[in-house]
Amino acid sequence: MRGANFHLRRDRVADFDSLRVVYEVEGRLVNEAPLRVGVGRGEEPGSPSDLPIMRISRSGGRDVPYIPGSSLKGVLRSHVERLAAAIYGPDAVHPPFDTNKAEEEFEKDMICAVCGIFGSIKVASHLVVRDSLPLNSPTIMLKPGIGINRDFGGVQPGIGPFSEEYVSPGVEWSFNMKIMNIPIEDEGAEDPRPRLLRLLISSMGRGELQLGGRKSVGAGVISLKYLKVWKKMVADGELRVVEVKI
Ligand SMILES: [Zn+2]
Repeated sequence: MRGANFHLRRDRVADFDSLRVVYEVEGRLVNEAPLRVGVGRGEEPGSPSDLPIMRISRSGGRDVPYIPGSSLKGVLRSHVERLAAAIYGPDAVHPPFDTNKAEEEFEKDMICAVCGIFGSIKVASHLVVRDSLPLNSPTIMLKPGIGINRDFGGVQPGIGPFSEEYVSPGVEWSFNMKIMNIPIEDEGAEDPRPRLLRLLISSMGRGELQLGGRKSVGAGVISLKYLKVWKKMVADGELRVVEVKI
């Protein structure tokens, strides 16, 4: 049966009574294309753009663009959903905010691997993604846009032209993700999550993920460089940290 190995028993997922192993995935994200992680129209008073990008205040009063960890996590989840649909069939996967499905999985004691990684209203997330900050000085571009009617694809009268902010390509961003209590080196088929996470990380290395707005015109392609994976575990009362290759 397809999808047979896609689900986990509750006790495999509700396992935060002890932190057995933590993998810390580090590297640098590079946006290969213009990147727009935006805030909505008019949310940033005084901005020169109608559609500004998200910024965070750093010490010294500088505001720099950043990528919220929650946005990154959402993109990672979508990608794992696509991988899971390809491997286990489209019926195995449900939308992240389908609370009925999450409850049903819990009642049936069959938690899907995607919830088993990213969490749901019923199970805690096994993955923490930090905010990504630029490591060099990003150039911000202002692009004129026009309103496109979503239903008909034509120019929407009355909307725009407006200006949209993008971060220019080639910016390096910090990347740090912690994976808790999932043995990602495990090649066994019993737990589907290690394989999905390894596939996710290699997809990131190949620049297969897109982040932020205007994906349909190729914006937001990101790739992960300088990957390092650290395995942290307590053995004989001591914290051991080793670098692993995955
Ligand atoms: Zn699920």
